[in-house]
Parts: sequence; structure tokens; C-alpha cells
Amino acid sequence: MAILEIRKAGDEVLKRQAEPVTKIDRSIKKLLNDMSETLYHADGVGLAAPQVGVSLKVVVIDVGDGLIELINPVILEKAELVTDTEGCLSIPGVFGEVERYNHVTVEALDRSGKKIKISGSGLLARAFQHEIDHLDGILFIEIAKTLCKGQ
Ligand code: ZN
Repeated sequence: MAILEIRKAGDEVLKRQAEPVTKIDRSIKKLLNDMSETLYHADGVGLAAPQVGVSLKVVVIDVGDGLIELINPVILEKAELVTDTEGCLSIPGVFGEVERYNHVTVEALDRSGKKIKISGSGLLARAFQHEIDHLDGILFIEIAKTLCKGQ
């Protein structure tokens, strides 16, 4: 496994629409392993492949309840808009108030290629939407109601 360089806002790869994964081969499994190691090293909640320079629909999330790996994720259901504070490993030191759905169900493939459906609320629902936005080339600072600098 390897810790990958996290791309920062301004990098062109973060603005691109990521491509779906068509075949889950060894390189995708290595990418997932490296992304989760990078996520834990950075002490983050979620990481999308474009953030490590790979324009593919791959996401890792851990809100404290264990690692979730998503390949080609799509949002199936969403409910109840709420506004809360958000940050991003690609935009260190910047936080913003972002409106997101509080309950979200996503469908994706796991690393074995099996279709999975996961429902999340609160931080997990927020992480699903934030990371899937990355796959569409959207950064939270573009949709935040307000922004502020923190440490
Ligand atoms: Zn982010």
C-alpha cells in the first residue's frame, strides 16, 4: 500500500467528470487500498479518486464506523435537506456551510463487483454526497452558502 498525494483545489483533475470503472481488476483493488491508507493518514472522512489524480468513479469513506468502498456510486434516494459545516482534504483550512440531504441511499459495486446498497444519515449521508460530487467535478466551496477559514 502507498500514501498518495492529495490534489488541491486548482488542479484540473478535480474539475473533470470521472469515468465509470468498467472492470474491477488488480489496479482498482490497489487504488482502493492506497486510497484508504491515504484517507487514514490524512485523518479524513472520505476520499474520491480524482483527489489522488485518478479520474475514475471510486470512493472510500469512513465516518468512524468502518471502511466503505464504493465503485460507480449513484444516489437512489434522498430526503430532508439540512445545512451543516463541511471541509475537504483538497481544500485544507477552509470550511463552509453546505446544504445536503440528511438521509441518502447509494447503490454501488464493492471490490468483488457485487452490487451493494447502503443507507446513511447525518455525517455518512453528507460524506456520500460530498464524495459523489467530486466524481462530477464539483467542490463543496462551489455550493457552500458561506465559507470561512479555520485551522
Ligand atoms: Zn472533498
